[in-house]
Parts: sequence; structure tokens; C-alpha cells
Amino acid sequence: MEFETVIGLEVHVQLSTKSKIFCNASAAYGGEPNEYIDPVTLGLPGALPVGNKKVVEYAIMMGLATHCEIRRFNRFARKHYFYPDLPKGYQISQFDEPICERGHVDFYMDGTKRTVGLKRIHMEEDAGKNLHDSRTSSSLVDLNRAGVPLLEVVSEPEIHSPAEAAAYLKAVRQLVRYLGISDGNMEEGSLRCDANISLRPVGELKFGTRTEIKNLNSFKFVERALEYEIARQSAILKAGNKVVQETLLFDSENGSTRPMRSKEESADYRYFPDPDLPPVVVEESWVQEVKGRLPRLPAEWATELVNEYGLSLYDATVLTTERAFVEFYHQVVASCGNAKAACNWVTSEFFGALNKAGLELENSPVKATDLGELIKLVENDTISGKMAKSVFEEMFATGKAPGVIVEEKGLKQLSNDDEILTIVRKEFDSNPTQLAGYLGGNERLHGFFVGQVMKSTGGSANPKKVNDLIRQEAAARKGA
Ligand code: ADP
Ligand code: MG
Repeated sequence: MEFETVIGLEVHVQLSTKSKIFCNASAAYGGEPNEYIDPVTLGLPGALPVGNKKVVEYAIMMGLATHCEIRRFNRFARKHYFYPDLPKGYQISQFDEPICERGHVDFYMDGTKRTVGLKRIHMEEDAGKNLHDSRTSSSLVDLNRAGVPLLEVVSEPEIHSPAEAAAYLKAVRQLVRYLGISDGNMEEGSLRCDANISLRPVGELKFGTRTEIKNLNSFKFVERALEYEIARQSAILKAGNKVVQETLLFDSENGSTRPMRSKEESADYRYFPDPDLPPVVVEESWVQEVKGRLPRLPAEWATELVNEYGLSLYDATVLTTERAFVEFYHQVVASCGNAKAACNWVTSEFFGALNKAGLELENSPVKATDLGELIKLVENDTISGKMAKSVFEEMFATGKAPGVIVEEKGLKQLSNDDEILTIVRKEFDSNPTQLAGYLGGNERLHGFFVGQVMKSTGGSANPKKVNDLIRQEAAARKGA
């Protein structure tokens, strides 16, 4: 029997606000254990939460970027559970009134456009971290992360392969980074994901029983965990047995999943509106104001690069991976006026050099305007494409402007027709035997004369002009 894979992701995005969601303690990553705590974080009796406006604003930004409806009257709810990483005994989250609903995320995979629907995006607080010390057989609690703001982005079950799940997750990460609301750093846990997966016979409309794999913190793990679950669930179904609905953990060491707990129902959490927090009312004017400040998003950039700059979809996708990339590219184009040449230089030479040096774009020794200048020097025949590559290396190593390097190294390309023609004539005259052969139709001797001219100009002559002028002079001599 053939099965169809059905996947829905719940992505947790840690927001990069200065302070926590309901108090003034720092929301920074790292720090000494329990450095960023206060009475609210600790859930001390009498300590009252106060909402962080930035969190609501970031939620609105994400909602707008994913085409969601923004709820105007929001409430926070208490989600109860008992665990030492959460001293209050409940997490403040949103339940049946999430701030964003019914949106979608669009992205490209293997050159085709995909759309995954969003059920909801809600705001909530993160929990602390338990550290288990095997030497002393004790557990320690670090509450720095407790109360750090999160957005939970919940997709519809509309993803159909592990690769598509990873591509969707990349698209979510790309969006939050463009918006500047999170660094999306998966290693530091700023982006984590729970993956729900079920199988159903091809053609069946009803969903199969799902399992949920918790806390996946890399694109690779998402794919590997889902691959494993597909194999595990299909073996169960093929044997005529039933998949048990449960929550699983992925063990990255041996690439398998194992049960963590049986699936809890929402009733188990005893959700109710948090009486300590007033409702959050989102005025239309606020939404409009945020909309006006939204940066250009990757899909919009990519469309422009394809339609107006004439780039391939592949190049547009590469250039829009990060907002910093496409902004850099845009500056290069503004400075040289050639979109295709700028694309070639940025995606090959420039990204290659950054990669090799292990540098982020923001630390690039080469400025966008200088790269644009370099491209112009090639376009107006001042230097050859080959020279440009060595000038670029020098720019990358020293941060100098291309004009300065060309000047210093005396790299100017010889492009003056009269000067080149003089050299061509000299070479013709001093190689009469080869000239007779060439004029007699021996094409190989064309290459000989190109080589001679290049040699006598120390490689500085514009090769295209040398070619053309040799032909022109040969034709003139034949005619004479
Ligand atoms: P819960 O309230 O139990 O968390 P939700 O309906 O909010 O369930 O869904 C949680 C996630 O699980 C969503 O991303 C959703 O797309 C996904 N999901 C729901 N049903 C299935 C299913 N049968 N197979 C795969 N994913 C599913
Ligand atoms: Mg859930």
C-alpha cells in the first residue's frame, strides 16, 4: 500500500527584544546561570506581569508578512503544567484567541513555488532550562530563558515531505531575519520546531494518527527525524497495526525517535484567561503604521530581480537568502548599472571569497560601491576580466578601492585602436613567413599573431580588439 505523508510544523521563534515579555529582566542569550531573573521571572507571589509592547508589534509584523488576519482584541491565557523550568506552574500563552490567523508562507523548492497555510501565530513566554549533572546526580535550573518572548507559528498539515518541511522552516527563518524580529539562530535555540507527522493511504481524505517530534533544532534534524518517522509509521501500518498518538524525542546520535510522553489534550492544561494581564487591543491605525514600516520581503525582491533585472529564478533565490545579500547586490547594481554582471560578481567571486575567509557579509572588506566600480572598469575596457579577478583579490585582501589598485599596479588595459594596430603591423612585418601563411588561409596562424601582440604588450592589450584588428589588417593587406 502506498502512503501519503502529512506534516504540520509548530515553529518557536525567540524574539530579539531587549527585555522579557512580561518584565524588565534582560532577554539576552547566554549570561551566567540565573543572571537575568527578577520576581516576575521567578513567579514570586505578588509579582505582577506587565506586557511588552514590542512583542505585540513583532507579532503584527510576522502576521502581516505571512498574510494573516490580525486579531484586534487579544488575551493571554495560562497554560498549566508542573515542571521545574517554570516556577509559576503555568506558562503565559495565547489559547483560543491567537493574535494572527489564517495566513500562508510562500517559498520556492527545486524551482517551483510552494505555499503552506498557517493556522495561527501566537505570543507566549519561553521556559527556563534544566541542566542535569550526572556526577552529582542532581538537576539544576537556569531561569535566564524563562519569560523570553516567543512567537509560535503553527502551520496547517500541508507539508508533504521531509525536504519540504526543511524548506518551509528555512522560509520562516528567512522571514524573521528579514523582519529583524529574531536572529533565527537554531544552534542557540532562537528557532526550534516541533514536527507533527502522519501517514494516510494515497487517495484517503481522512488524516491518519499523528505523532509529534519535539524540539528539533536544526534543518538536518528535522529532515532526519521525519524520514525516520515515515519509515517507522509505514512499517506499523503495513503490518496492519495502529500508530499510537504520542509525543516523541529525536535522538540525533542514532537518528531514531523515542517516546517522551503520551499526547496531552488541551483540556489537560486547564487554560483560562490570565487575570493579571489586561487584554491587548490592536488598533487599525497601529496595524497600518507597522505595515508602512515593513521592509521589503524576499518574495517581493525575488520577483523584481527576475522581472526587472532579468536574473534567473535560481540567482534571485540565492541573492535573496538574506536581506543583507540583496541590499548589497542592489548597491552594486546602483553603482555599476549592470544587473547581470553584478549578479555574477556577487554570487561567484564575492560570496566565494567571503566563504573562504569565513566572513559574514557585514564584515566584508569590499564595499558594494567598490565592487560596482570594479565592474565598471571592466565594462569600459579599462581592465580585462582576467585583470579584474586579480584586482578583486587585492581589494578583498587590502580593502583598497579598485581604481587605486589599478593605478598602483599599472594594470591598465591597452584598448586604444591606433596603438594596438601599430603593434599588429609591427608583428606582421617582423614575421613575413607566418604572415604569408596566414594570408594564404592558415587559420592557426591567427592565434600565433594574437599571441605575439599579447606578448609584446605584456598581456595588457584588450584581447577582443587584438582579434578584430588582426583580421582588419589582414583583410587590408590581402586587398592591397
Ligand atoms: P494541537 O492542538 O493538538 O497542538 P493543532 O491542531 O494545533 O493540534 O495542530 C498542531 C500541529 O499539528 C499543526 O502544525 C498541524 O498542522 C499538525 N497536525 C494536525 N493534525 C495532523 C495530522 N493528522 N498529521 C500531521 N500533522 C498534523
Ligand atoms: Mg500544539
